[in-house]
Amino acid sequence: MVKKGATRPRVYARVRPMFGRDAGKDPLFSITDHSLSYVKEAGGEVSQFNMDRVFGMESTQEEVYATIGDTAIQTLRQGFNSTIMAYGQTGSGKTFSMEGQKDERGQYTSRGLIPRLFDGIFESFQGDETVKSFKVTLQFIELYNEQLQDLFGKRKVLDVTMDPTGGYRCKDAVAHDVNSPAEALKVYGDGCKQRATASTKMNAESSRSHALLIVNVAWSKEKEKSFAQLNLVDLAGSEGMKKTGATGANAKEGIKINLSLTKLALVVKCLSEGASHVPYRESKLTMMLQKGLGGNNMLHIILALSNSTEQIAEGTACLRFGQSCLNMTINPNANAVEKEQAEMRAVIQEQLTEIADLQSENEKLKRELDERKTKETEVPDFLIAKHIALNKDALSEDLKEADEQINELKRALEEKRKEKERLAAAGDGDAARGRLRPPYPLSVSLFPLLRPRPGSKTSLPHASVHFQVSPFNV
Ligand code: ADP
Ligand code: MG
Repeated sequence: MVKKGATRPRVYARVRPMFGRDAGKDPLFSITDHSLSYVKEAGGEVSQFNMDRVFGMESTQEEVYATIGDTAIQTLRQGFNSTIMAYGQTGSGKTFSMEGQKDERGQYTSRGLIPRLFDGIFESFQGDETVKSFKVTLQFIELYNEQLQDLFGKRKVLDVTMDPTGGYRCKDAVAHDVNSPAEALKVYGDGCKQRATASTKMNAESSRSHALLIVNVAWSKEKEKSFAQLNLVDLAGSEGMKKTGATGANAKEGIKINLSLTKLALVVKCLSEGASHVPYRESKLTMMLQKGLGGNNMLHIILALSNSTEQIAEGTACLRFGQSCLNMTINPNANAVEKEQAEMRAVIQEQLTEIADLQSENEKLKRELDERKTKETEVPDFLIAKHIALNKDALSEDLKEADEQINELKRALEEKRKEKERLAAAGDGDAARGRLRPPYPLSVSLFPLLRPRPGSKTSLPHASVHFQVSPFNV
């Protein structure tokens, strides 16, 4: 059920005329404006699929544009992003609907949605007097073998990054500003020439890659500025491997194409069932389409179908995918609001950075203060000098005392020496040596010299100087 304020994707089917490989085959579908039905076997059950609109074999590019393109431009003008995506097996008309048909010289023989949208966008903004200025920018990205490449940037491999609004984007993709529909078409045409194509049984011109054309429009009016993005997606063929007969490198491509489409189907299934976790990150395709699929975007899906009974399996798979899409819920938001939120996030981020800067400055100041304190506990030379000057008298007294002590020791030793000589003369050498062994080493502490004296203005930390007094010659 669709929640209040939410909507669902628009799903359309377009059935290709029966020429080429379908020529002379039995038609599969019974078509009305809003439904497709068919029977699998004669006399069997009827399968019916209801769509927002079904474009039959005779449908024109004008009709398709009038239904899908016009809506996309209206929503774009209101500041909503839109994604238009073509899904289906190779050769079923995806590129025909998205781009159109060109002759050998590259001239359009039939114009699809993209060239018409270029016209529509410029007409719409140029024809509005309230629009003061507007800018149209194009990016063209291809997903080939699970690798994103820039079709405007010599197929440079691109990284996917998250933007401030939580969506994925290719930040480094070349963005071309275009000033007219003709210039847009020229730039787009140059990008198309870069697309990876290879021949398979299904379609000699078949594209084996997904192509994403991003049209960004930014505009300003008297009192408001806004922007919107249009994503135009031409997906690669959804057919199974057996049917294409692809081998080797082509088979490898096929596996990756199918893998990203399988992941796309899985994401759509999760979204239609309201799953709490949607595995966008499992393929680059779903990452790039995240915003288009997960809401905040108007989503239009064109199911491209062949009408031949031989293509019944692919047709059924395609219609089932469309059915899942119809059950998805999306919540489009106008970009003005989205922009506000992004700006708010940027302000918060700026403030957080400022807080972090202030914190680290605070830490630095604390460290400097601690260092200064440590230095202060070391007694500087000038303080020692001051201490000595202030306590000069007391210190010289101490020195005198120390002198007297030394002299006394000298006298005592002199006496001992004389006694030894006397004993030696009396023939008792050993006894004399034993008694004379002095208490080596003799040490005189001068600590009292530096201790604070009463009345002294300075105080010194604990420090002591020891003079080793060598034993006098004995
Ligand atoms: P896809 O991109 O799905 O592989 P294409 O768009 O290349 O298929 O279509 C295959 C061929 O069928 C192309 O030659 C294309 O011009 C043609 N074609 C597809 N749809 C239509 C249509 N509705 N009317 C006329 N020709 C069509
Ligand atoms: Mg194609």
